Amino acid sequence: MNDMPSRRTDTTAIPHVTTERKIPSTMCQHQPPCPPAESADRESARLVAHHPEQGWSLLCNGVLLFEDTGELLPDGQIIAPHRPLGTGQVMTAA
Ligand SMILES: [Zn+2]
Repeated sequence: MNDMPSRRTDTTAIPHVTTERKIPSTMCQHQPPCPPAESADRESARLVAHHPEQGWSLLCNGVLLFEDTGELLPDGQIIAPHRPLGTGQVMTAA
């Protein structure tokens, strides 16, 4: 008598749960994700708040972007303005 229950090796029945879940440093939900604040490409992150009357914008990666192109990073680092607004002001150092 062979009453052995047939053991099926059905791999699809095995629950494949991936418990590994990386918590991103930003709240970015965009696809593709916005560049992080540490990235040199940080300014291309999406705007999440724009306050032109106060002269600043908040990017998705937590960077505060000021209208003079200065930046305040989430870790408190300050980036000096790097895009001169020079409209007609020509420096004549001669
Ligand atoms: Zn984003």
